[in-house]
Amino acid sequence: MSKIVLVTGGNRGLGFSTAKALARSGAVVIIGARAEAAARKAVDTLEEEGLTVDWVELDVTSPPSVRAAAEIIRERYCRLDALVNNAGILPESTDIVEHAFADTSIFRQTFETNTFGPVTVTEIFLPLLHKSVAGRIVNVSSTMGSLTDQNNPLSPYYSMLLPAYRSSKAALNSISVELAKSLKSTPIKVTSVCPGFVQTDLTPISRQQAPLTADEAAQIVVTAATLPADAESGTFIDANGPVAW
Ligand code: NDP
Repeated sequence: MSKIVLVTGGNRGLGFSTAKALARSGAVVIIGARAEAAARKAVDTLEEEGLTVDWVELDVTSPPSVRAAAEIIRERYCRLDALVNNAGILPESTDIVEHAFADTSIFRQTFETNTFGPVTVTEIFLPLLHKSVAGRIVNVSSTMGSLTDQNNPLSPYYSMLLPAYRSSKAALNSISVELAKSLKSTPIKVTSVCPGFVQTDLTPISRQQAPLTADEAAQIVVTAATLPADAESGTFIDANGPVAW
């Protein structure tokens, strides 16, 4: 029986590559996208490759949008085997360089998508994940969220942008741990994943420096979305194994 998988922000970047890789592996992939045109473009591209994918409109910052998407997936598929909380932002603003800590709106905006987004989506999709025999939740995080690994070589521009981003991912990691604890008595496993430094629109300035293509980086997300039954829950991993929290 094919796995039913939802990838938020699946229309481009890492999410698109994850959707493609999962569809190639035989999963029924649902692309969650906040814009219909972008979703259709992604679906068309994958269908040209002979893959079958579905899509739902889904803005992770809008609970009504998430609830509507869950209702559509419940009607079409009755369950969800894997939820990939991929949608994320790294806000761009020249203001941030001057006011990295003074402007809390940047923190709020970043947390709204990167942290509260996955919480909302997970909460609303949990009933469908409970209907799976082996539900998996993947929170696409970053070593930028690690409180241990603070030595990432980045340009000054990024280092000024990063406090809000880093802390949104640190909080997401904490949420992964708490969620794994609360789901301990169920088959559902939760994993925080760092895909590495990836060539996507999220990293436009240093895109050339990013060593990984989105297709390469998607592999670790796929691994987390298809963890075997005996795998540990509540871990933080990248392609090389466990990452220090
Ligand atoms: P991109 O900017 O290329 O893609 C981001 C995706 O998230 C887009 O599909 C975008 O949709 C979607 N998105 C943003 N906000 C929302 C929202 N409110 N609701 C629904 N979808 C939304 O970034 P990446 O592919 O690089 O990033 C994917 C994930 O990987 C993020 O969580 C990021 O933090 C993480 N990551 C990325 C790294 C990198 O080096 N690129 C490194 C470590 C982690 P739309 O097209 O509508 O804007």
